[in-house]
Amino acid sequence: MSLPRRLAAPPATWERDVDVVVLGSGAAGLSAALAVRPVRSVLVVTKDILSAGSTQWAQGGLAGVLDPSDTIENHVRDTLEAGAGLCDEDVVRELVTEAPKSIRYLMRLGAAFDPEQGGTDIALTREGGHSHNRIVHSGGDRSGAEVQRTLDESAIGAGVDVLGHAFALDLLLGTGADGERQAVGVRIGKTDEHGVLVSVGVVTARAVVIASGGYGQVFASTSNPPAVTGDGVAMALRAGLPVTDVEFVQFHPTVMWRGPDAVGQQALVSEAVRGEGAILYDGAGDRVMLGVHPLEDLAPRDVVAAAISRRMAEAPGGVDDHVYLDATHMGERFHERFPSITEACREIGLDPAIDRIPVAPAAHYACGGIRAGLDGSTSLRGLYAVGEVSATGVHGANRLASNSLTESVVAGTRVGRDLAWELPDRVPIDIEIDDPMDHRLLDPARLREVRAVMSRHVGVLRDEMSLSSAAGALGSIAHGMGSAKRTGAIDDEVRVEPSRRTWEGTNILTVASAVVAAARTRHESRGCHRRSDFPEPRAEWLRHLDVTLAADGALDVSDRPHT
Ligand SMILES: Cc1cc2nc3c(=O)[nH]c(=O)nc-3n(C[C@H](O)[C@H](O)[C@H](O)COP(=O)(O)OP(=O)(O)OC[C@H]3O[C@@H](n4cnc5c(N)ncnc54)[C@H](O)[C@@H]3O)c2cc1C
Repeated sequence: MSLPRRLAAPPATWERDVDVVVLGSGAAGLSAALAVRPVRSVLVVTKDILSAGSTQWAQGGLAGVLDPSDTIENHVRDTLEAGAGLCDEDVVRELVTEAPKSIRYLMRLGAAFDPEQGGTDIALTREGGHSHNRIVHSGGDRSGAEVQRTLDESAIGAGVDVLGHAFALDLLLGTGADGERQAVGVRIGKTDEHGVLVSVGVVTARAVVIASGGYGQVFASTSNPPAVTGDGVAMALRAGLPVTDVEFVQFHPTVMWRGPDAVGQQALVSEAVRGEGAILYDGAGDRVMLGVHPLEDLAPRDVVAAAISRRMAEAPGGVDDHVYLDATHMGERFHERFPSITEACREIGLDPAIDRIPVAPAAHYACGGIRAGLDGSTSLRGLYAVGEVSATGVHGANRLASNSLTESVVAGTRVGRDLAWELPDRVPIDIEIDDPMDHRLLDPARLREVRAVMSRHVGVLRDEMSLSSAAGALGSIAHGMGSAKRTGAIDDEVRVEPSRRTWEGTNILTVASAVVAAARTRHESRGCHRRSDFPEPRAEWLRHLDVTLAADGALDVSDRPHT
């Protein structure tokens, strides 16, 4: 397989220079921009409107120790347990210690979290894997929208400069006086609101912060919005950086099933619904979780997702692509407690107060990504990665529910503060020697196929047979990619226009290939990576996998011990 080393785009016609450029405007990107803004010039580059990322959609809330009967050590223990042996304990402790401060910080910025019923203290709820009530939420199940609103208003109020409908294509690199490589900026494709290319430009900066979120859209069925296409991970691979533990994709067990042909973002049915006592049934009307785990329907996410997948494979009652979540015991109270889920149910003609909700597992959270510290630092000078795009060691092999928004705010704020204090030296861009139009792009007609391959063969349950057929299918799609420029050398060569759609498709193919390469290499089941041919965790696999993109466009996978 050979993947492109650059995203094809016409030559740049404009240039901007700032101290810090932030790629992405979710919780991580805006927290970074807000913290750096008082001292430095900062530009947020975002490929759509500010709220197009996952942050806007988060339902459950943010985890942090706020109840005096809870402790930092409890939260650390729960996070390590979920992470199945691959968390970095020191980093987890740093995050958990800062989590309550980050929640209070958001409140000072104006975030309105739900109070206790009839009281003024913040209400704390519990989700799967948490031993205490420590999740703050807003508007019932509209927590992420409140975080996004708060950060949008704060960033704009603080004078953060935003370049919207601007697609970050590739990093620009330079070489420091000491001979070390350094990120010195980013190539941008400015589009209209439909993603049609308007112009290409270059933003140079002393620091580049990638905050582009995860890669749920690599799969046919996901809880993630359309903008979450793995662009930052693909960009890092093309810049020669390793991406870590990308096989650990958390599948949410209960995403609304809207029919066999539904693709793209599906409505999430929050874990909190099972927290309120809802029960899973299969197509024959039998309970799914009975006898599977002591916590039954409140078992950890990976356990529930695997149990549903196994049950669907047995096709009870002839139903092989979904199961049912019954929350009818809540009656009308459901509407008030879960307004967004009620709305989504009504769209498919159901009332959750009286009807069972059809659900199936779908890609939800990327535990892996660009290897970075909780301060965003990466192995490339001048490059920082924060939020879901990063792999900091907080989530290990499986994320504990509601730790990710907290991580985005903590890491984003930290990198912003650090860059306010000190920036890398300015270094010029190395001369670009190749013509960016020479590179290949994925024909959008083949994108559906890439996603279908990922959901069919690289979903909750994987094995060598499914993974090798995924690798074969992706390899042949990569082989058939078209050039952005007709060279005349090959008559029937496909010509693919550079646009948001074709850049995203190319990134999706790149990230999908990296996930498959890592998932094939990890011969065990751990956290949210489950292989039916290696059903148990294995001590010798207490290791991390790094995927890199070689100069010839092939992917290499190497492993290193977990320390
Ligand atoms: C339905 C749902 C429910 C969730 N519930 C919870 C929850 O209750 N608690 C919790 O902690 N977590 C939850 N999560 C996860 C959490 O929302 C995310 O992990 C978190 O919001 C990630 O924040 P982020 O800033 O890293 O990325 P995002 O919020 O995804 O933002 C990424 C940004 O990057 C931009 N971008 C991407 N590529 C490019 C590019 N090439 N050029 C320019 N801009 C680009 C996007 O447009 C977007 O602005 C949920 C996720 C989903 C989808």
